[in-house]
Amino acid sequence: MEFELNIKPLATWLPHEATAIIAGPCSAETEEQLVATCLQLKNLKVSALRAGIWKPRTRPGNFEGHGEVALPWIQTVKQSVNLPFAIEVATPQHIELALKYGVDILWIGARTTVNPFNVQDLADALRGIDVPVMIKNPVNPDLALWIGAIERIHKAGITKIAAIHRGFSSLQESKYRNPPTWQIPLELKRIFPHLPLLCDPSHITGERTLVQRVAQKALDLNYDGLMIETHITPDKAWSDAKQQVTPQALAEMIESFQIRRQSTDDAEFNNQLEHIRKKIDEVDREIIEILANRMALVEQIGEYKRENNISIFQIERWNEIFRTRPQWAEKMGLSKDLIQEIYKLIHVESIRKQTEVMNRVDAD
Ligand code: PEP
Ligand code: MN
Repeated sequence: MEFELNIKPLATWLPHEATAIIAGPCSAETEEQLVATCLQLKNLKVSALRAGIWKPRTRPGNFEGHGEVALPWIQTVKQSVNLPFAIEVATPQHIELALKYGVDILWIGARTTVNPFNVQDLADALRGIDVPVMIKNPVNPDLALWIGAIERIHKAGITKIAAIHRGFSSLQESKYRNPPTWQIPLELKRIFPHLPLLCDPSHITGERTLVQRVAQKALDLNYDGLMIETHITPDKAWSDAKQQVTPQALAEMIESFQIRRQSTDDAEFNNQLEHIRKKIDEVDREIIEILANRMALVEQIGEYKRENNISIFQIERWNEIFRTRPQWAEKMGLSKDLIQEIYKLIHVESIRKQTEVMNRVDAD
């Protein structure tokens, strides 16, 4: 699966300062709303504007966007705000219309990325066209599906590509509308280090008071940019009202962002960093040695159980481990969740090892 994509740097199609920011309303509701919002964004450090023209709504009866009628409004905006404009496309016809009206950047929404037939139709429609395409993660937490969509668009010859992380649906209780599940976009970045990665904290949080924190976290993780839904009167928005912020709030948010450098030439800092990393290496080696010791004991207990004809899995013992270890961890200032996750893995491995012991001896 791992191969290098031929991708142009983000700055070649989305000029930006420290971080790229795409802002604008969830939906283009009226010409006045779109123009007024974008005019207020003009003087902020925004790299591009956004608006939904065709809105994928979960249930019918909600505002589904004006479609082609709203495309000339974008042209009106561009007469006074000299910024690239991005919209969502979900069908080949959307692409054709977007290009006809001079839309600069297209994005594929989360509900489209989930469907390879749909993505392939878009890829076929994009062949031979030099337009930037941003690909949102699929609604469900499936990295392969996200990669597949990126590959389909890339194979169609598109080189101005970015991924947008907008969170994933989840059955678990969460304060977020779409929990971020950061390990998925970070794994994408590991596989495709040159693929620009943007974060959409608006759709992750679903709640305007949480947007700043998630945006800052993305910046701390070295994301290349942000897409933030912005509306002149968010409470009156026709879609996603709770998560949109005013241009004024966006301005304050941009001021608050701490942009951390990925590296520095400062020799003293680098020496100290190297020193701490060496110590971390040593501790990791110890962790692995200790795990090896634990597994050797597991092997011993497996043999002992086998000799005495006792079953491998004993629920009381497992319950005791699962109860006490998080308590011990908490006393040492560690998160209970972390230790629970680690012990789930250790338990699976212990059972696997003991099963191996049973089978090995039985075969003798
Ligand atoms: C949007 O950006 O308005 C949108 C519909 O996003 P998503 O595809 O991430 O739900
Ligand atoms: Mn939205």
